[in-house]
Amino acid sequence: MTFDLDRARRETPGTATVAHLNNAGSALRPQVVTDTVLAHLRREDEIGGYEAEDEAADRLAAVYASVARLVGAHPDEIALVESATVAWDVAFASIPLRAGQRILTARTEYVSNAIALLQACERTGATLEVVEDDEHGQVDVDALAARLDDDVALVALTHVATGGGLVNPAAAVGRLTRAAGVPFLLDACQSVGQLHVDVDELGCDLLAATGRKFLRAPRGTGFLYASRAITPHLVPPVLGLDAATWTSATTWEPAPDARRFETWERNVAGLLGLGAAAEYALGWGTRAIEERAVERGERLRGMLAEVPGVTVRDKGVQRCAIVTFTVDGVPAADVRDALRAAGVNVSVTRSTSSQLDLAARGLTEVVRASPHYYTSDDDLERVLAALPRR
Ligand SMILES: *Cc1c(COP(=O)(O)O)cnc(C)c1O
Repeated sequence: MTFDLDRARRETPGTATVAHLNNAGSALRPQVVTDTVLAHLRREDEIGGYEAEDEAADRLAAVYASVARLVGAHPDEIALVESATVAWDVAFASIPLRAGQRILTARTEYVSNAIALLQACERTGATLEVVEDDEHGQVDVDALAARLDDDVALVALTHVATGGGLVNPAAAVGRLTRAAGVPFLLDACQSVGQLHVDVDELGCDLLAATGRKFLRAPRGTGFLYASRAITPHLVPPVLGLDAATWTSATTWEPAPDARRFETWERNVAGLLGLGAAAEYALGWGTRAIEERAVERGERLRGMLAEVPGVTVRDKGVQRCAIVTFTVDGVPAADVRDALRAAGVNVSVTRSTSSQLDLAARGLTEVVRASPHYYTSDDDLERVLAALPRR
């Protein structure tokens, strides 16, 4: 299938000024997303914030439907929040945890999730077990199966690591957790918007994602998917105005659906932008986006592998549009800065945000280049042309 690159770039003004290979950080937005945000901000100026929200009520409700459709969920299974961290933490903090219970995770777990897991274990006496990798570097599904007993309170997995191109076999994990009746919390922060993500195919009960990365939504937006089956069993430790009802002087009830994970105040303009970004992605089709994004990643890996002194660091069976590499004798920050001076955006991932993966592999830092479906061949050539060499 041919991909209409001209249209993708025309609808993304930033592609005219920069070769943006930092979509795993914060993507360039399509024009329609920015227009949606600005229109609502102007309306707030004209008629007032609450009044503008009332006026946008139908469109705000449609954001839930758009986000739900993006991941194959029902609108009442979606909570709109400000980041993936908030989404993941509110879900995790809602899971009852007792001393003696176990939590299973993998080496690719995201830094703030890993810290929250460690903190919760310190507080409750639960224990954290890191399932080993298989020979390809992805989570070892058989090893995970062997550890999945009745006393496992949760399996927490990061679908696509922030500092590596590998895609974990989340659907295989989901089949195991479903069969075992163990809650499965998937961090899909780097996969939503990049890969085809369907909560039923993945078998997760909870999924956290952010807006600004491959989904191309405004910063300060994110969402949680919480299945209809699990939500009644989870009561968040923080309950905002819409998250629960004060039913009498001494009683209250949590909202029946995923609204219980939200707080009342939010960035309405940003969330409308999130809805526009979800619709925009659906317009391209998530499978078409995945095919093109993965191809861009593979192409860049192939190009980098031919440069003397450059080592591509991605592992895994299935790889995506996150490409990590090191340049002999050149600190990652110097690579990033040289590229930025040439109008090419990449970022640096350090082992302090990846103790179980990068640090365990003896890497202190890697350069991360994350193209997207709108990345042109010329953008990729520019990476190579600007690469500092020793
Ligand atoms: C960026 C990232 C997060 C955190 O997302 P925020 O929106 O910054 O909270 C979580 N998990 C992974 C894998 C990430 O890459």
